[in-house]
Amino acid sequence: MSDGTNIRRVADLFDSDPERRYLVVSAPGKRFGADAKITDLLYETHRALLDGKPLVAFQKVKERFLGIVHELGLSLDIEGVLEETEREILRVRSEEFTASRGEYLAARVMAALLGIPFIDAKGAVRFQGGRLDSEQTFSLMAAALKGKKRAVIAGFYGADEEGNVHTFSRGGSDVSGAIVARAVGADLYENWTDVSGFFACDPRIVDSPAHIGVLSYRELRELSYMGANVLHSESIFPVREANIPILIKNTFRPEDAGTRIVPTAGYIPAARPVTGIAGKKNFAVIFIEKSLMNSEIGFARRILSVLEKHGISFEHMPSGIDTISFVIDEAELKEGMLEQIKREICEAVSPDQCKTLTDIALIAVVGHGMSKNVGTSARLFDAIARAGVNVRMIDQGSSELNIIVGVDNENYERTMRAVYDEFFRRPAHP
Ligand code: ASP
Ligand code: MG
Repeated sequence: MSDGTNIRRVADLFDSDPERRYLVVSAPGKRFGADAKITDLLYETHRALLDGKPLVAFQKVKERFLGIVHELGLSLDIEGVLEETEREILRVRSEEFTASRGEYLAARVMAALLGIPFIDAKGAVRFQGGRLDSEQTFSLMAAALKGKKRAVIAGFYGADEEGNVHTFSRGGSDVSGAIVARAVGADLYENWTDVSGFFACDPRIVDSPAHIGVLSYRELRELSYMGANVLHSESIFPVREANIPILIKNTFRPEDAGTRIVPTAGYIPAARPVTGIAGKKNFAVIFIEKSLMNSEIGFARRILSVLEKHGISFEHMPSGIDTISFVIDEAELKEGMLEQIKREICEAVSPDQCKTLTDIALIAVVGHGMSKNVGTSARLFDAIARAGVNVRMIDQGSSELNIIVGVDNENYERTMRAVYDEFFRRPAHP
């Protein structure tokens, strides 16, 4: 969606299959490496607005859309639409409203190009207390699309209970697409992006990693949550209950098969134990040890109250008989907070030991095949040991769908490569 040529490409893809009925668009992205994404320019616009500075970034947004409409030769009165949008940005003065205008404008342009109705997500996606209200949203969206053979819907935003524009987190147009698929009971949710789907490891770390043809919803959730950025990690929620498969396709290489994401039940895992590997840096771990903590009623609750008091959520909670750990995203922790939390935990539960680790990277090894292949974790830890990396933390999900390993940030890339080589480049052990 970055320029007129690409917008036309998307329109042609949409047109080429009459089964494609509803098109959800995101804001134009970068045209070249050093270019700005429209959404980033809009966030910049809001900061300038708050600082009372001239809206230079919005001038750039205007130029992009004027250029696009000109390139496409549309009769849409884009000057008028842009002027009105600027007036609204000044009037509403909300970050989320301003950020949402990239999708709004892109959808207006796409609807004009295709000659089909434009649907403003403000009236069709509803948030309640900051979270998506799924039930209301599905019925509002279904109502908005009723009787429309085809339509273009703006992604990324909706409205809260007061009618103010509210956005998803970054990349949220993927969630909007899933909402539309669910609301209309689609057979398939196609997500067109700029890569040919998921790969078994991050291509920036491992050279030409294997392509993943099929994933289950649960594998997708694990991988995307742990940093595989192809699709927003919340995109499966709307489609999951209705068993609507997702197909990730590359706009620039439509002939590539892409990745199909299918319901977990009935999914037949590949012969290899591991489907994919993903990871993220910058976590802190609080490790607590106390003999016989299992018999102490309210032990975990007292620890959790400390975290709650500081407004901290945790990502994982690996535990053993006498140990429990909390893995926290370092971005959540303010200066000195971790030490303070540790002190309060010591007061609350008098542990035998309480220590904290920082600058930890987590690596998730994911695959339904793991439960069926004996020795997967032995292979995993063996490979990490051979790479000379010290494992700082282990968390095996109770579903045997994933094993999460924590290593020091500095060992992240090395560990990813070692694990990838073990499961994807070495012939399986007899
Ligand atoms: N335009 C929004 C963003 O940059 C949403 C999206 O691209 O899906 O995050
Ligand atoms: Mg996206």
